Amino acid sequence: MKIGVDIDNTITYTTETIMHYATVYGQENQLNIIPDLNHYYIEDVLNWDKEHANKFLLTYLGDIYRNIKPKEQAIEVLQELKREHELVLITSRNLMFPQVEEATSSWLTNYGIEYDHLVLNTTDNMHFFNKLNVCLEYGVDVMIEDHHELAAEISSILPVILFDYPYNRHLESDNIIRVNTWNEIKTWINKFPGTK
Ligand SMILES: [Mg+2]
Repeated sequence: MKIGVDIDNTITYTTETIMHYATVYGQENQLNIIPDLNHYYIEDVLNWDKEHANKFLLTYLGDIYRNIKPKEQAIEVLQELKREHELVLITSRNLMFPQVEEATSSWLTNYGIEYDHLVLNTTDNMHFFNKLNVCLEYGVDVMIEDHHELAAEISSILPVILFDYPYNRHLESDNIIRVNTWNEIKTWINKFPGTK
């Protein structure tokens, strides 16, 4: 099987790491640092204007991507899945940010995650691109994701295993399997038709 895998908030604790650095930046700039986790984007989570959000990301994204922590069992399960399946990592991390590709691939190597393809966002949109097209281009059979809009779009065609977050809780579809842990993902993948 070909398994599409998102990185942020799927493999990694991205929100937690961003909040760590955002607290530093927010305190330095007298901005709100109390998050509203029902939102997804930093400017909405912290109610910052776009200018501060962009300046923060340009300053800290390299550090964030280098120092981010994996979720429990993510590494072990991905290593196990790689032995029998193809892994296509598809991330909205944007190539326009300096060092993003290097920071991402070094992090994956450091944690021993092997993969068949790493697809980054090459569009003008800093946070978002059409992952459904990437899934179709690479022949992905199932996508592991957390983002509400991406999951909604992809699940119109492909099954999506969705990491549960407050910002995606409104999503419901026969094509969406909601999970909280990587061990649950392993169990579901092993149940898929055609899986050894
Ligand atoms: Mg994500």
